[in-house]
Amino acid sequence: MTLAALGEPCVLLKLGEIVLKGKNRELFERRLINNIRTALHELDIKVDVRKRHGVIAIFLPAGATVEQAEAVARRVADVPGLVWIHRAWRVAKDPDTVVKAGLELVRESEQVARKATFAVRSRRRDKRFPLRSNELDRLVGGAINDEYGLPVDLSKPELTLHIEVDRDEVFVFTDGLPGQGGLPVGSSGRALVLMSGGIDSPVAAYRMMRRGLHVDFLHFSGIPFTTTESIYKAYALVRKLDRFQSNSRLWVVPFGKAQQSIRNSGQDRLAVIAQRRLMLKTAEEVAHRIRAAALVTGDALGQVSSQTLANITAQDHAVDLPILRPLVGWDKTEIMAEARRIGTLAISELPDEDCCSLLAPKRAETRAKIEDLKQIEKRLDAEELAVQLADSIQEYTLEGVAPAS
Ligand code: ATP
Ligand code: MG
Repeated sequence: MTLAALGEPCVLLKLGEIVLKGKNRELFERRLINNIRTALHELDIKVDVRKRHGVIAIFLPAGATVEQAEAVARRVADVPGLVWIHRAWRVAKDPDTVVKAGLELVRESEQVARKATFAVRSRRRDKRFPLRSNELDRLVGGAINDEYGLPVDLSKPELTLHIEVDRDEVFVFTDGLPGQGGLPVGSSGRALVLMSGGIDSPVAAYRMMRRGLHVDFLHFSGIPFTTTESIYKAYALVRKLDRFQSNSRLWVVPFGKAQQSIRNSGQDRLAVIAQRRLMLKTAEEVAHRIRAAALVTGDALGQVSSQTLANITAQDHAVDLPILRPLVGWDKTEIMAEARRIGTLAISELPDEDCCSLLAPKRAETRAKIEDLKQIEKRLDAEELAVQLADSIQEYTLEGVAPAS
């Protein structure tokens, strides 16, 4: 009997850190389920997302194909908060059907032809089921051994058949896709990411989404003194990252004229830090307007001269909001590997004219003094300038440029 005759394809999700939560667990789970529904919206398959004890099950409409279940599994693999995504079969709750489904799954596996070792791992979430989990293991394992002659290896099997007995059904599955881990987006609040077109800031954004923040993106362009390339890059990066959180927005600040004022202030060696502080002050103003409670940057300690401990301190002093720097302890090679994994590296490596290149002094100060920076900012009237810059932002949604409000 084929699997389609024995049951229905579905997707079973294993939760990550949420399981460690106490009283709030319910809230986290509800948010995760909402995020899953939002992510699956774009697929045009009517799914039913159900919470089960300790897992989430996604049921597809009657007659759904294995390919549709695969598409659902691939899409939810990008939703933070999950550690495993299993394409499973939902079958009737009787031992005979479970044995048949197990045999069929193993027959379809690529391991069967080469007589790979296997193990059956059963779990009984519903204790009313007539067989205990070790009895079910033996029943199904014995049938597989008889039918195909695969040897059992309980410690390091090449193929594992999972059987999970639930309230209304039994789930049978083999392989799984690893999930993103972390917490559901939104469960930690909202933040604003300072997004250059570089390699680091998109990775920083991803890491913070994974810790439960929903983020907006803020990009400073050198316009009118540079081309719009860096905006396109930032936009392309936001598109790439949107699959982890949905509803992303990019805000762009035309920053060229403000940079010119900084350059004209004559303090060449401090220009980069003065500029970074102005970016942060502007970001703080924008954050208040969009109700974001933290700023996020891609800084890594010591990576470039603006990221020495003294200069990071000088940046922290520019604003009251916390500046989150998830990459602070990462090496460049680690950041690049992560950028490759999440699919942002190729975009970040495209050439562009970053606004920062307008202000590249021959020797940058590595130990900026806050008093000196304040002098420059007084002359610029930096607080007022930050408000003006925030007034000049343009919003880009993934559907296009938003109409001015
Ligand atoms: P990245 O790869 O993210 O550009 P970087 O290694 O080039 O980082 P810096 O140029 O010193 O390092 O920038 C440090 C951080 O400052 C960036 O990660 C980003 O958060 C922020 N930043 C720099 N330039 C911009 C910009 N044009 N718009 C928005 N944020 C920026
Ligand atoms: Mg950069």
